[in-house]
Amino acid sequence: MALTFTTHGEPSPGLVGLAQGLPAALERKGYRHAPDDPAPRLVLNFVDPENPRPYRRRAQATFVLSLLEAKAMPTNPVQAMYPYLVRTLANMLLVYIPKKEAHFFTLDLGHYSEPEGIGFFERLVERIHPMASATLVIKNRFDPDLEPELWEGDELTRELAEAGKVLDSWNLLPAPFPIDKILPPEDFRHVQRLYGIGGLSYGNLSVRKDERRFWMSASGVDKANLRTIGRDILLVKDYDPVENCIVLSVPPHIEPRRVSVDAIEHWMIYREHPEVGAIIHVHAWMDGVPATQAHYPCGSYELARSVAELVRQAPDPASAVIGLKNHGLTITGRSLKDILRRIEGRLIRQVPMT
Ligand SMILES: [Zn+2]
Repeated sequence: MALTFTTHGEPSPGLVGLAQGLPAALERKGYRHAPDDPAPRLVLNFVDPENPRPYRRRAQATFVLSLLEAKAMPTNPVQAMYPYLVRTLANMLLVYIPKKEAHFFTLDLGHYSEPEGIGFFERLVERIHPMASATLVIKNRFDPDLEPELWEGDELTRELAEAGKVLDSWNLLPAPFPIDKILPPEDFRHVQRLYGIGGLSYGNLSVRKDERRFWMSASGVDKANLRTIGRDILLVKDYDPVENCIVLSVPPHIEPRRVSVDAIEHWMIYREHPEVGAIIHVHAWMDGVPATQAHYPCGSYELARSVAELVRQAPDPASAVIGLKNHGLTITGRSLKDILRRIEGRLIRQVPMT
């Protein structure tokens, strides 16, 4: 997909400089201004904080960056700003404090800032580009071919549910953001369709079933209460590179939920490392872990590839703890119990943001 961009909405007085400098820096990076492109790669959506209006993208691959002006950052920035991100149906939010700095907010609760000064617009583009140009692998295909003996789950899905409860008891699973409470129904459907999420929640778990398949938590569900196969826990059987979708086996009688957006990452790791038996992803940190260099979006092929690369370099790929920049950790193990034993008491709840 070509790197095209358009703008939407009117910049407030404090955003006028940004509305000139940012497009110019994007063009230097290879983006082309294409105001008539019905499916641009990137949309700069200038937002009025009094009346935050969404840009309704027509293609999933369109990345929306909402921009708004603020006088100062409130004490709890994520809590104050995250609703603008969701309400404007954006993938990322840039809050500009004139003559001082730009703050970024991402769907996975990332928050980091870039100070004004030399190369300001270039530095903003370096933040935006990995997010905007990434390929999302969030389409699901549901095959109603799950073996009847697995319709009620197995020993492994019970372990998965148990591990979800343990993570919850360690306070590692923030409640899903109540996205359906702050969006009108048609916007909520837009978000579900285009982000491929069933509601925002953070963290996921999976366990290997056999050589090719693994069980994984669904998107947007309460991980402390994983019960129904096909709704809370799904069996991932493949990735289809032609359709660019995750293929799931579900019981025929169920209205399935989508699998976690990180399924592509887990799929890559399981396929490459037969000795990996389980993977847990949490929004927390651990000292001294190797970490990815760029902040890619959740569910992107690029994030999956960079995590898989670090797993490959680990002394023992089946016992790796990998940092995802400004985001969290992906931890591999021989089993879920093995992972929980290794991380108990060692996690830092605050992910460092740089
Ligand atoms: Zn995450």
